[in-house]
Amino acid sequence: MSIFEQMASYEHEQLIFCMEPRAGLRAIIAIHDTTLGPALGGVRMWMYSSEQEAIEDSLRLSRAMTYKAAVAGLNLGGGKAVIIGDPRTQKSEMLFRAFGRFVETLGGRYITAEDVGTTVADMEWIRMETRYVTGVLGKSGDPSPFTAHGVYWGMKACAKVAFGSDSLANRTVVVQGAGNVARHLVEYLVREGVRVYVSDVFPEKAQRLCHEVGGIPVEADAVYDIPCDIFSPNALGGMINEETIPRLQCAIVAGAANNPLRDEHADARRLHERGILYAPDYVINAGGLMNVAAELEGNYDPKAVMARTAHIYDTLLRVFRIANERGILPTEAAAAMAEERLAAFASLRRLFPGGQVKR
Ligand code: NAD
Repeated sequence: MSIFEQMASYEHEQLIFCMEPRAGLRAIIAIHDTTLGPALGGVRMWMYSSEQEAIEDSLRLSRAMTYKAAVAGLNLGGGKAVIIGDPRTQKSEMLFRAFGRFVETLGGRYITAEDVGTTVADMEWIRMETRYVTGVLGKSGDPSPFTAHGVYWGMKACAKVAFGSDSLANRTVVVQGAGNVARHLVEYLVREGVRVYVSDVFPEKAQRLCHEVGGIPVEADAVYDIPCDIFSPNALGGMINEETIPRLQCAIVAGAANNPLRDEHADARRLHERGILYAPDYVINAGGLMNVAAELEGNYDPKAVMARTAHIYDTLLRVFRIANERGILPTEAAAAMAEERLAAFASLRRLFPGGQVKR
């Protein structure tokens, strides 16, 4: 497929290739849709095996940001950037400053933030070149606590639908991945009296988390076979797939991981056929984006953002209600909600502003 055909298939507005050989920068900025506002999304640094893989990732991730913002009711569009390179060895001040200059040329059409492979410190270098960067030091900072709070409330909404009560006390939750989001999530769950199992590909991370916060560490490969109420993917994408779905022994899949389904359509259908309720990723993990959006709005108040993330409970209930009413999957209901908001906003009449006539 040509690049334009790929852009057309996802309905992208713009794809920008950025190159600064002196800093070793090869980056792609994907702007999916700015109907609702500036395209916001993190910059990911990854060792892509090909340019094609980097393009595909930027297109897929930026589109998900449009849907995430639309369902969360934020005035933001969807964008994402990728830098091709090894984040462990190829980072430098000049690399991020060069990237910041490209962001600045877009005049606010794209606003960047941290993502896989980039940190708050990298955002500081970007900030030296552009105002269009969020999640910087002294402002909204680490989004993980907000994401975790939203996921926790999202789990409660799932429990309400699956079990008739949103209390998680005495339930069993398997948490896959013992990273930043998982740490805060496990804290909420333990506090509510949940029996929590935690795994990580680095077992010492799971052990440390359980030692410090609570929970029972388990082997990474064992997670799919543990009988539980909720399976919570909080590691990388693609973990829920044709091989793992038949092994799951849960009633609900709900976690922070982006793109946890390897095949968005087929795996959602497989979960449904197994009677497992799935919380669409970009609905339940929108807490971090809400945090960044609040920073952009000004007068940043972390308490108010925390309260806002709890509304993911209501949003998910709405997703499940629409799915039920229309006889569609929750993933399809979430996409419909996003597309309906985009279409409604786009259909508003344009008004000619006054004060334009010169005498
Ligand atoms: P993180 O890098 O801190 O944690 C991920 C953890 O998963 C790491 O400890 C890693 O070792 C582990 N892991 C990788 N593969 C695994 C496997 N097969 N089994 C078990 N563990 C495995 O990342 P994070 O910030 O906690 O984010 C977790 C997920 O949530 C990611 O998919 C991220 O894209 C998504 N997400 C995060 C935020 C946020 O605010 N941080 C917001 C939205 C979505």
